[in-house]
Amino acid sequence: MTQQFMKWSLQGKWIAGGFCVTLLLMGLVSFASYKNTIEIRESANRVQHTYETLNTLTDFYAAMTVAESGRRGYIFFGSRQELERHQNAVKNMQSEISALQHQIHTSSNQQQRLALLNSLVNQRLALFEQSIQLYQKDKLAFQAQGLITEKSVNLREKILNVLAEIKAEEKRYLRICLQQSQYSIHSRTIIEILGTILSFVVVSSLCFILYRQWVKREKYEELERSLAQEKELSELKLRLFSMISHEFRTPLSVILLSSQLLKEILQELVDSTQLKNLYRIQSSAKLMNQLITDLLTLTRAEAGKLDFNPQFINIESFCLNLLEDLQLFHIKLPAIKFIKNGRFFRTQIDEKLLYSILSNLLLNAIKYSPQGGNIYLIVNCEQEATIFQVKDEGIGIPQQEQQNIYEPFYRCQNVENIVGTGLGLAVVKKCVELHQGEISVESEVGFGTIFTVKIPHNRE
Ligand code: ATP
Ligand code: MG
Repeated sequence: MTQQFMKWSLQGKWIAGGFCVTLLLMGLVSFASYKNTIEIRESANRVQHTYETLNTLTDFYAAMTVAESGRRGYIFFGSRQELERHQNAVKNMQSEISALQHQIHTSSNQQQRLALLNSLVNQRLALFEQSIQLYQKDKLAFQAQGLITEKSVNLREKILNVLAEIKAEEKRYLRICLQQSQYSIHSRTIIEILGTILSFVVVSSLCFILYRQWVKREKYEELERSLAQEKELSELKLRLFSMISHEFRTPLSVILLSSQLLKEILQELVDSTQLKNLYRIQSSAKLMNQLITDLLTLTRAEAGKLDFNPQFINIESFCLNLLEDLQLFHIKLPAIKFIKNGRFFRTQIDEKLLYSILSNLLLNAIKYSPQGGNIYLIVNCEQEATIFQVKDEGIGIPQQEQQNIYEPFYRCQNVENIVGTGLGLAVVKKCVELHQGEISVESEVGFGTIFTVKIPHNRE
């Protein structure tokens, strides 16, 4: 349960981490998009600026052409209208030049070109002024006017050159701006796509983790439900068996007692062969009694209600008492050899359960040695565990059946007419498990069997 809880909390950490990563990713993508948008807006502003500069240059050129034609119109035809046209164009030229100062790129090259343009324009305007004043003083000074026009044309060429350079440079900036805008849009698209994919991956992983957690929880709850059902069922079984065994025990005791009395009376009157049926009644009643006891023990063990009271006992004297008991209750019992090894002869074991384990194994050894042979009870007291071994030279257990012998009611095929219920070893296994011990078997058909029970000294 604690492990389960730890697992949940670990997954909880994963989920929280995943959400944080998603939030972080979204934050990063939003920040990158915001920065990119600002860059794109700045680029757009610069592009607009450059277009305005190019328009201003065109307007300036147009105004300069109008100013020149106005001047010529005035000095050739003396028209006041042409003079006004010239003056308006000059004003336009000046306003375009001052607009250029705000619009043109701030690079030093462009600023130098602008300064040059300014001075050339001023020179040309001065020539315009000179030409108009000359005309107003002397309308026939054609030669001087021709000189001024020649200078003006030269200046016009230079101005046109500077204008072309400024235009080319602005167009270059325009291209760079457009490239930067394209790059910004491109990188923004990549960042957004990558961010979306990463967020999608993280969110899908989270969904997957949540789904797995949900499935696990479902399984866990299902398991809990079936465990509860099983527990309820085994408790019901235990109640039923307790009731049945109680109801059976009383008549069985009556049968055993009556047959014993009958045997004692008849022993004097009839010979032993005539008492055979009485013996049969007695042994069947005993078998039934044992069956009931074993069934009850097994049901108790399955319901987790088998008493387990480990206490310090002296192993050696316990084994000797047990062997004495067996001799007392089973008159025709062959001698069992007891061998002990090791020094730790006091250990914590449940006496009743150990009695059940060893008596079952020893009675099996006797029962399944119909031809006789030696039977041993060997005890090895080691540092970590006490090891009991019951060894016989009987019929043995077939190799392929050895894994089934602990199942209730299982009997091997080679038992022939040896009676038994198949419950003894199932009880033994439960008793060993309660001690957190282990049971194993080595056997060969026709040679004998060794059962080994290992009971650890330290239990959880
Ligand atoms: P009971 O409930 O009266 O003990 P059982 O002896 O048949 O009946 P288990 O003690 O559980 O039942 O033994 C299961 C089976 O294992 C036996 O039927 C027998 O085939 C086999 N077996 C157990 N011990 C030995 C042994 N020492 N030698 C040979 N076969 C054995
Ligand atoms: Mg048995």
